[in-house]
Amino acid sequence: MTMRISDRIDGERLWRRLMELARFGATDKGGVRRLALSQEEIPARACLVAWGRSFGLEPSSDAAANLFLTLGGREPHLPPVLIGSHIDSQPTGGKFDGAYGVLAALEAAQVISELPERPRRSIEVVAWMNEEGSRFAPGMMGSAVFTGKRRLEDILTIKDRDGCTVKDALESVLGAERALPRRPLGFPVAAFLEAHIEQGVLLQERGLTAGIVTGIQGKRTFRVEVIGEESHAGTTPRSARRDALTSAVAVVDALQKAMWDEADTVRFTIGMFNVLPNAPSVVPGKVVFSIDLRHNEQAMIQRLGDQVPAVCQAARGRCAVTVTELLYDAPLQFPASIRSRLSEAARRLGLSHMELPSPAGHDSRYLHYVCPTGMIFIPCKDGISHNEAESISPADAMAGARILAEAAYEMANQ
Ligand SMILES: [Zn+2]
Repeated sequence: MTMRISDRIDGERLWRRLMELARFGATDKGGVRRLALSQEEIPARACLVAWGRSFGLEPSSDAAANLFLTLGGREPHLPPVLIGSHIDSQPTGGKFDGAYGVLAALEAAQVISELPERPRRSIEVVAWMNEEGSRFAPGMMGSAVFTGKRRLEDILTIKDRDGCTVKDALESVLGAERALPRRPLGFPVAAFLEAHIEQGVLLQERGLTAGIVTGIQGKRTFRVEVIGEESHAGTTPRSARRDALTSAVAVVDALQKAMWDEADTVRFTIGMFNVLPNAPSVVPGKVVFSIDLRHNEQAMIQRLGDQVPAVCQAARGRCAVTVTELLYDAPLQFPASIRSRLSEAARRLGLSHMELPSPAGHDSRYLHYVCPTGMIFIPCKDGISHNEAESISPADAMAGARILAEAAYEMANQ
């Protein structure tokens, strides 16, 4: 029996690299704080470059600091197959969100590089810039710019909490990588595959090794401003008040009722709520809050999201209200051809698996708009993620990398 590519996947090497990468930005509680374009990310990127170079991958980056490690194919002019994820983390993140996908891709590229003959297309391991969006919002910045969903000029002026712009942070990272060749932003891609931890409990509950992702749920975000009038808490009678907080509470209550669904499939969150001037003896003059609305079905997210302005207006009382939609990402389905290829690889390798949707967003969303894209999930303990306690098993990590290697190799030969 001939040896499969995936039989060469070295689970111990993959695990060792996961632990080594986690040292860049390591926290006391065993997690990772490696914000996008931070000083912690620079040596982590250098480490990826060194690992790739050790077996012949050629590093390069683009103007958005997306990092590529290329295994040249027999026909290098053809659009490559991209495999990877991101290495930035939340402020109190874990070792595996994103990093797993990049290092599983690196392991897949390494075993393919050891074959006597290169695949037809190049295979490129990619680490997309700023997926998490916790230092510079919004997230998935590198993949959005790469795919033309956003313009580079528009992200350069975005600032972090300390006033540092994306432009300055990009300069510090790209400055440290001056020796790397610079790629054009958004070159043609044949396909993109991303391995990632599930960040949910479906695989664990069913005792399965891998998830083949059907698609990503839709998301709409809004900013709501309720405008009243600041006045003296001791002297202004109720009849004369235009209290922004009182109106905002009524608006929030009305929204919660409008978004309520029996089946519990709607994800509706008000996660940010600011009262101004936020002083004990001043009737609040203004409230600003956020809405994050998600659902798997286009018709549902369309209907619910479209109701938001009217619901806010109806409940605003004496105050004025403005609703601004910030983002509308429709639900998406990955192509059946990729899903069946990934499922078939899992089946062939004897790995238990299921199809499942992704409730969280990933760089794969934007790649989906420009090339056939698919995702592989591996279980993560108790679904805990965006948390220093994030945990996966070495066996699952290896299994996901095996599926990725099989599918990437096949697609690179097409
Ligand atoms: Zn991630």
